[in-house]
Amino acid sequence: MARYTDASCKLCRRERQKLFLKGTKCYTEKCPLDKRAYPPGQHGQSRRQRISEYGVQLREKQKVRRIYGVQETQFRNYFERATRATGRTGDALVKILERRFDNVVYRLGLAPSRKSARQLVLHRHFTVNGQIVNVPSYLLKAGDVIQVREHSKKLDLIHSSLKRMKDNALSPWLSLDKANLSGTFLNIPERADIPLTANEQLVVELYSK
Ligand code: ZN
Repeated sequence: MARYTDASCKLCRRERQKLFLKGTKCYTEKCPLDKRAYPPGQHGQSRRQRISEYGVQLREKQKVRRIYGVQETQFRNYFERATRATGRTGDALVKILERRFDNVVYRLGLAPSRKSARQLVLHRHFTVNGQIVNVPSYLLKAGDVIQVREHSKKLDLIHSSLKRMKDNALSPWLSLDKANLSGTFLNIPERADIPLTANEQLVVELYSK
C-alpha cells in the first residue's frame, strides 16, 4: 500500500491550510506554511495559477482524504457508501470518516495526531467494548466504549497527548474518563458539529462526474 511517508507539512503547503497531520508541528513555526505559503515544487511560485473546476474539486478531495489519512480506494468506498445513505451525500461522507477508530482515538486526545492514533491502534493498545480492535478504519457505533489496555496505560505518548489537550477541547459527542483512560463514542455527530474546514460538496461533484 502506498502510504504517504514524505514530510507531513509539505501537504499543508499543497492544500494551503494547516492540516495538523503530525501532532503539534503545525502549531509551531516548524510548519512551513507561514514562511512559504505557496504549493511545493518547481511550479509552486509560478504565476500560472488558473485552476480549473476539476482542479478545485480535486484539491478539496485530496485535502479531506489527507486530513483523515485515508487511501484513495477506501475514500472512494466511503463515498459510495455515503451515496446510499439518507440525506446529503457530503454530510454522510464526513460522518463516516468521523466514525473511524483512529479518528476517535485522536479526538479523545489519546494520540497527538490521527497518524499516531493509527499506529497505536495497529499496535493493539485499545479495546472497543472489551475486545481488542487493531483496525484503524473500524467504524464506531453510538455507545461504543474505547479503553486503553491495561499494559498500555503507562505509554508516555498517550499521557503527553492527554496533557496537551485543553479541557474544553473534547468533542461533545465523546466522553472521556481520564483516570481510567477510557472514552465513549456517545453518538454520531451532525456535520455542522464536526470541526472540519472543507467543502465536501466539491468532493461529491468530483466523484459524480
Ligand atoms: Zn503543517
